[in-house]
Amino acid sequence: MKKVLLAEPIDEAGIKVLEGKVDFLISPDPSGESVGQLLKEVQGLIVRTATKVTRSMIESAPHLEVISRTGGGLDNVDIEAATESGVVVCGVKGPQDRFVAELAVTLILALSKQIFYLNSEVRKGNFKSRYEYRPMGLFGKRVGLIGLGRIGRIVAGICHPLGLEVWGYDPYLNPEDLHLPGLVFTKEREEMFKTSDFLSVHVPLSSETQGLIGRKELSWMKPTAFLINTSRGEIIDEPALIEALQQGKIAGAGLDVFAKEPPETSHPFFQMENVILTPHTGALTRDAVAQLAEGAAQNAVDVLEGRKPSYSINWDEVVRKKTKG
Ligand code: NAD
Repeated sequence: MKKVLLAEPIDEAGIKVLEGKVDFLISPDPSGESVGQLLKEVQGLIVRTATKVTRSMIESAPHLEVISRTGGGLDNVDIEAATESGVVVCGVKGPQDRFVAELAVTLILALSKQIFYLNSEVRKGNFKSRYEYRPMGLFGKRVGLIGLGRIGRIVAGICHPLGLEVWGYDPYLNPEDLHLPGLVFTKEREEMFKTSDFLSVHVPLSSETQGLIGRKELSWMKPTAFLINTSRGEIIDEPALIEALQQGKIAGAGLDVFAKEPPETSHPFFQMENVILTPHTGALTRDAVAQLAEGAAQNAVDVLEGRKPSYSINWDEVVRKKTKG
């Protein structure tokens, strides 16, 4: 039987898919060192988020055929190195999209109503915080979406009936292909940044999108506006965001993802009352986690048995390479 390494434990639903089809083992920890060592012996690897699969790990794994992730973002895998080594990289798209979108909207709502600040003030006995008039109305406010893929579109669909004016910017899409009620599709990124009350980021992390929102983009934002990031931490220039928050250049942020995860406990975000932090839980709802594990396990088994996985970034290229060579 072929062998699959789990870089971290996965939900029971995924284990059930593997049982009887492959031998599997779980790494003692998700570090590159531990996973890299065990990788030398296996044909398949299942990763969640904590493991960065580097070129040297892939090149030192002579039997490796597939790297399967329990999610859609594949930025923690060196895809170029995998393709060169004929390793299929796959992920699971779908079950998590709505939940990530729901988190983005929840952050918009919590920030606009200042839920966390007011909750802590009431508990401290400061009922007078009601006279600080911190909550804001949502009706007619503008939300700007950066990226209108699977998740961005769902966010648009939830925000419109809330009475928000929804703008979206995505240079890779044709507005004619988008049929989203109430969506204003704009090509004017700067105008969207300058006029939005909430900006929510929904692009994949790539060399092109790393630092996509930097000092310049943050300087366009209104001092009353909030930035929401449920995509990937590195898409925002974190030092520039810290500066903007500390200097009151923007009103606050809702962040599910960070440049380094987990962030150090000394991270400046931890001291900021205008920032809401969640531990990269967009996809990790009780409902989705079993489906993601099941999907990742099924993808790994499918590739090892010669079938196309449900979603892969390099399947065609790897197959083409193997047929040629
Ligand atoms: P997707 O690939 O379906 O859509 C991304 C969209 O971004 C595409 O339409 C693309 O054209 C657009 N885009 C690319 N570069 C752009 C740019 N420079 N400016 C504007 N638009 C650009 O991706 P998705 O499934 O919607 O995922 C969005 C993000 O959410 C990804 O970063 C993904 O990793 C992240 N995600 C996070 C969690 C979580 O737990 N927080 C879970 C799942 C996905």
